[in-house]
Amino acid sequence: MRRIKLVDTREFEIEEVSTPRPGEKEALVRIKKVGICGSDLHIYRGENPVIKAPVVLGHEAVGIVEKTGPKVVSFREGQRVVIIPYVSCGRCEYCRSNHPNVCDNLLTIGGMTENGAFAEYMVLPEDFLINIPEGITLEEAVLIEPTTVAVRAIKRSRNVQGKNIAILGAGTIGLLILQVARIYGAKRILITDIVEEKLKLAKRLGADITLDVSRRDYFKILRKDDGLRKFDVVFDCVVNRESIKLSFSLVKKAHKVVVVGIPTKEVEVNFIPIICGELDLSGSYLYLREDFLEARKLIKDKSINTSSLISKQFPFTEVARAFQEIEENKGKLVKVILNMA
Ligand SMILES: [Zn+2]
Ligand SMILES: [Zn+2]
Repeated sequence: MRRIKLVDTREFEIEEVSTPRPGEKEALVRIKKVGICGSDLHIYRGENPVIKAPVVLGHEAVGIVEKTGPKVVSFREGQRVVIIPYVSCGRCEYCRSNHPNVCDNLLTIGGMTENGAFAEYMVLPEDFLINIPEGITLEEAVLIEPTTVAVRAIKRSRNVQGKNIAILGAGTIGLLILQVARIYGAKRILITDIVEEKLKLAKRLGADITLDVSRRDYFKILRKDDGLRKFDVVFDCVVNRESIKLSFSLVKKAHKVVVVGIPTKEVEVNFIPIICGELDLSGSYLYLREDFLEARKLIKDKSINTSSLISKQFPFTEVARAFQEIEENKGKLVKVILNMA
């Protein structure tokens, strides 16, 4: 089979390797489509402090079961599946308390294993596959994993029902938190970004207020505008010094900031607003299987607008061009998909 290897910073090679064989409780999946994630871009640019080339990227993957091991019970040949892109040990304290996303021995697929999804085939344990029911196209199914990130983030906020929320960053995750929060009954939603096109899209997807934080005077606008008073929950999908500062200034005292993005370097934080405002700061990382099922339901019900999030698709042989276009468009593209077969 062929797979795409990031051999160096900003440099891909398509290599021929032998097709893996499924173990007893594993399935061989023919990968059909893979979404390109912000975290793939960080590794591509050499910005991830831990994960570096050479590596096989890709974790937002959907495909078709090609072969199953003898002890696989829930899947059969020809079934469409989305992958849960991490492997947890099942034995540590966290795995045993339904927290496998923070497993002591966690491996994320498409970064920390050889087994990334930018490949024609992948072998996965059946516990890390989710069936794609009829009524969901493969394009829509690519958005199940990012939607799961949004579902998890909202769970970490505890509840958005009837609340005013702010979302920092109108990329795929921010735009999905916007939509999921709306479904879960959020009242007023502010979303920020530095790219005008994304703010316009956010407006179309139901944001009440959009704020361009590339404007130098945005803090002044915040102070002046009554509609921009404090929020019950802030979701920070950017996570840098500026965004954390903005989170603290947007959130009500004794309320919650959920940190969803993964920064590429250490972020300096002023603790005074947390202490003197009794703020709660919650991290949100990956997801649980049950979050996947919830996201799949939202996609199946057509509650999420997926088509306006998919900006472009490329055949996998044009992976270099796909990444270049994402870079050249400076944040204007939302989700870009590689077609593996
Ligand atoms: Zn991702
Ligand atoms: Zn574990």
